[in-house]
Amino acid sequence: MSSRPPGEVVVARSRAPARAGPLRRAAAVLTSLSAVIATTVVTGPAVAVGPGGPCALERTGAHHSEGLDTWNPEYPRPLGTLDAAMIFLSFPDARPTLTPTALAADHFPGTAQFFARASYGKFDLRVHPVRRWLAMPAPSTTYAIQRDWESDRRAAYLRDALATADPAVDFSRYDLVYLVADPGAPGVDADATKVVNLDRPLTVDGAKLRRLVTVFEQHPPDHNVLAHETGHVFDLPDLYHRPSDGKGDWDTHVGDWDLMGSQFGMAPEPFGWHKWKLGWLGGREVVCVHRPGTTLHTLDPLGAPRTPGAPGHPRVVVVRTGPESALVIEARGAYGNDAGTCSEGVLIYRVRSGTASAEGPVKVIDGHPDAGACESASVYPDLADAPLDVGESYAAPEDGVRVSVEDATVADAYTEGGPEGRGATWTVKVTHDPVG
Ligand SMILES: [Zn+2]
Repeated sequence: MSSRPPGEVVVARSRAPARAGPLRRAAAVLTSLSAVIATTVVTGPAVAVGPGGPCALERTGAHHSEGLDTWNPEYPRPLGTLDAAMIFLSFPDARPTLTPTALAADHFPGTAQFFARASYGKFDLRVHPVRRWLAMPAPSTTYAIQRDWESDRRAAYLRDALATADPAVDFSRYDLVYLVADPGAPGVDADATKVVNLDRPLTVDGAKLRRLVTVFEQHPPDHNVLAHETGHVFDLPDLYHRPSDGKGDWDTHVGDWDLMGSQFGMAPEPFGWHKWKLGWLGGREVVCVHRPGTTLHTLDPLGAPRTPGAPGHPRVVVVRTGPESALVIEARGAYGNDAGTCSEGVLIYRVRSGTASAEGPVKVIDGHPDAGACESASVYPDLADAPLDVGESYAAPEDGVRVSVEDATVADAYTEGGPEGRGATWTVKVTHDPVG
């Protein structure tokens, strides 16, 4: 099993240069029971925004930009139903010991269920496995499959794979394509699973293929790996940070939070910002703070299911902090995809729309910089305890923002979808006093 996050590659496009910049650490975290606060409190959202509005950062030219004022039409948007072809490729140098049906079950229905929960039922990913092995013309070793794949070998693999699959698959019927290699073949490197983005789309069956997911997993595969790769197909960036020498820690930016960080994260629910980008959150669920003042907001945990017929509370508060930056506040609790979370509470992170995938477009703020948690299970224990609890606060003087957690309610046995004793709602006070 690989412990490294899965990759992605853009073919025939140079990557944006790495932007230097150390993690801007929390200026001060105050752990005082909400005392000395005597500002004017305005209850309710400052502005309820739709798809645009003053907190919707502009989409930039950065690869998988976190800007969400518009949707990039080169990507399928995960709303309603999308259909995915899953194609199983065998090689002459290995006889498959598993059936395509068994391998499809490694990823489905799990991946579809992940997205159904994350989207509150707004997105249905339907997979259509081709339930037989399709034989590639060349031995697996000839393609020299690896994480940093040589481009002509990768091109040969894609060319052969599409030619092999074409008679069996009508590509015009699918929004996504997964190419799954026989895990038993000797040339298959489990570190090489990725999305291949084609700058110049290939035309197959009259359909333009802009990207393919090439799956080279062991059986069983890495947890959530297909959901992570599928996130790229929906224009979500890598949130891990690849160390320059390939060693060292990959998870310093977001730790366990959001599956676009580590596929092994304990809290893989996509950030509220990503849900807004994809169209799974909107309207009154996203509160925009862009004027000076102090506001109170009661939040539902991000992973808690929507209660049919009930209006619910907002899920995220966004504070616009600059032309390409925002501070996002959301509640995380042990619901749905986050059932295994290490800690619950109010999570704060910075989003930068001009920062490319894998360069740190999102950075989680550590609410407890002097401590860690879940030493053995977390991918980055320093951030496993990042959320703030009741009575705790965070101040970002450089942005003129202060967040304090005022109150939380506890779910009882009758709270739909919520585990007993877990946080049901969280109330935060946000003070915005823009600098300069
Ligand atoms: Zn990735």
